[in-house]
Amino acid sequence: MDLLIRNAAILQDAELRIVDIAIDGGKIAVIAPSIQAQVPELDAEGCLVVPGLVETHFHLDKTCILERCRSEEGTVAEAVRETAAAKRDFTAEDVYTRAKRMLERCITHGTMYMRTHVELDPGIRMVGFDAIQQLARDCAWALDLELCVFPQEGLTNNPGTEELLIEGLRRGAKAIGAVPYMDTDPRGQIDRIFAIARDFDADIDMHLDLAETTEGMQIEYVCRKTEEYGWGGRVAVGHATQLSLLPPDRFAAIAAQLANAGVAVTILPSTDLHLMGRSHSHSVPRGVVPAEPLRKAGVTCSISTNNVLNPFTPYGDGSLIRMANLYANICHVSRPADLAGCLDLITASAARLMRLKDYGIVPGAPADLACLDAANPSGAIAALAQPIWGMKRGRISFKRARPVVYPPAKG
Ligand SMILES: [Zn+2]
Repeated sequence: MDLLIRNAAILQDAELRIVDIAIDGGKIAVIAPSIQAQVPELDAEGCLVVPGLVETHFHLDKTCILERCRSEEGTVAEAVRETAAAKRDFTAEDVYTRAKRMLERCITHGTMYMRTHVELDPGIRMVGFDAIQQLARDCAWALDLELCVFPQEGLTNNPGTEELLIEGLRRGAKAIGAVPYMDTDPRGQIDRIFAIARDFDADIDMHLDLAETTEGMQIEYVCRKTEEYGWGGRVAVGHATQLSLLPPDRFAAIAAQLANAGVAVTILPSTDLHLMGRSHSHSVPRGVVPAEPLRKAGVTCSISTNNVLNPFTPYGDGSLIRMANLYANICHVSRPADLAGCLDLITASAARLMRLKDYGIVPGAPADLACLDAANPSGAIAALAQPIWGMKRGRISFKRARPVVYPPAKG
């Protein structure tokens, strides 16, 4: 045995328990109310210990470019236009440096798994991909980084892009993404992505239905394609802001379809709140799809960060806890069970979306753990609990000091 974590509050079979956790060879060896052993100890002091947080939808390659871009309209069109212009000056070194800076922030917020979308098109070619793949190797001590190649500037309308997506999959990308609403032929793009995914046995993670009206929704088509290809459990869609505009009966029908087809939904609260509602002068809709009714219908969901400090989302610090708190606030989540559900959306449920193996605090799983400054899951989300420390495969990967106050001395 290498290490003993004392007094950790963990969720076991939906019950909160205070336990000791023994770590051996980078894995969780034993979980019990009290363990006796002569090994180094780490006292969790009754704080909530969770499996490493899971960021299912991120864009490391275009993070931290706000000072190079305009962000005035706050529309999707402006974000794509400004980012495409900035991308022309991207070099591998530039992408690597910005992405590493952001990834380290995510690591210090407790994130240990991430799927990052990487843009491929004839302009950037494999420059961003190569940089992010190098970063994945260099940061593997703290975080498992999965690459998802995707055509941000269109596929059927952008010759040469498909070949690059295929090149990315050949070089090790595990997932392929899409942005049908950026294509002159949205369904043509969806069709091609499914066909390529089957050829390379890749998971699919699409940007989908990001708009301010309910016209032209593709989510039901994606469900049908998922069933046609037998790809249930391997398809996720991000944004789906159009879903948030539907009346309850139509929403419920689509939720059932998503559950039956095995299509997961990722909510990107910060981006959606920033980009949606721009056509309204007042009574601005929030444009963030609620997870609770989807989850009740059996849909796998996650909350994720998407973009940080670029024209798609000119905010952010890489904290998934903050993102879950923002989501809870926007979507009127206040019941303790639902607040606890928000933590699930950045841990176990998100892990299910990414099909992570051996995820969770169970014997035999990798000791990928984050200790949050909170007593329970709902409190962690409600009060924006800071992670105090984290470990990856049994090795401490970060620590954060608690704030200290200095009252004046008495007398
Ligand atoms: Zn995205």
